[in-house]
Amino acid sequence: MSELQWVIGTASVTCVAEQDAEIPANAFFPSAADAVLAAHADWLQPWAAGPDATVKIVIQALCVESEGRRIVVDTCVGQRPLPEFFAGMANDGSFLTALADAGFAREAVDVVICTHLHFDHVGWNTMWDGDRWVPTFPNARYVLARPEYEHWRDATEEVRAAGSAVTFADAVTPLFDFDVVDLVDVDHAVTDEVSLTPTPGHSPGHVSVRIRSGGAEALITGDCVHSPVQLAEPDWFTLVDSDTEMSTATRRALVAECRDRDVLVIGTHFPPPTAGHVVSTPDGGVRFRPLT
Ligand SMILES: [Zn+2]
Repeated sequence: MSELQWVIGTASVTCVAEQDAEIPANAFFPSAADAVLAAHADWLQPWAAGPDATVKIVIQALCVESEGRRIVVDTCVGQRPLPEFFAGMANDGSFLTALADAGFAREAVDVVICTHLHFDHVGWNTMWDGDRWVPTFPNARYVLARPEYEHWRDATEEVRAAGSAVTFADAVTPLFDFDVVDLVDVDHAVTDEVSLTPTPGHSPGHVSVRIRSGGAEALITGDCVHSPVQLAEPDWFTLVDSDTEMSTATRRALVAECRDRDVLVIGTHFPPPTAGHVVSTPDGGVRFRPLT
C-alpha cells in the first residue's frame, strides 16, 4: 500500500497500514440494508465498498508529527495470532519496517495513543522478546484514556474476549510493569496542536484525536466510525459497539460538527485515500468526499 500523508498547519499525519479486509456489510453493521448500501455506491465504490454488499476496512496506524514529537495513534494487531474474526489474514510483521520507513522507527517514537483498547488498536504496544512482552516503543509514553483502561482492567477475561479486548493481558497490562503509561482525561492535550476528544459508545472510554494547527483542523476518528458509509448512515452501529445508542449519538454529533466544514476527517479503518470531508448532498443527505 502506498504511503499517505496530510499536512495540518505545522503538523503532519502519515498513514502506515498493517493489513486490510473486505467483509459483508451486514456482518458488521446489522442494520445495513443492501439497497441502502447500493444507493451510496456512486461515492463508496470501489475504494470503500465492493459490488456485492461488502465494505473494505484497513488496519493502520496514523502517525502524527507535531512540535517535534512523533506520535503513533493506534498500534494495529501486532505480533500475535489474530482472533477468529480475522483468522487467515496475513500478519508478517513487516509493519515495523513500514513504520520506520515512514520516519517512525521504534526508538524515535515519543508518544503512543490508543483510541481504545480493542485488539486491533493495541497490538504493537508490546512485542515478545523471547521471554516476556516488552514495550515495542522503548522511549515512548503510552497515553491511555483512564475510563477506557479502567473498564477493561476491571472486566473478566470472558468480557474482554467478547468485547474485542482479547489481548489486554499481553498488549496493555505489561506496559505498567515498565512504568510507561500515562492515564489521562478524555480531553487530554498531548501537544498544543494535538488533543484527545471523547467519542464514547464503540467502547466506554473511546477517544478520537483532534489536530488544530495554523487555522487547519483534522480529526482522527478511531472506531466511532469504521466505514465512511456510517457518516451517511450514522445509525449503522457495529456489532462490536459496547453501547449502540451512545455510539449512534456520537456519530450524529460528529457528522453535525464536521458537515460542510473544513475539517479533514481521517478514518482509522478507512481504505485509501483514507481522509476527506463530510459534505451535504443535494437531496439533504450527507456523504464523505475523499481527497483525490
Ligand atoms: Zn474497536
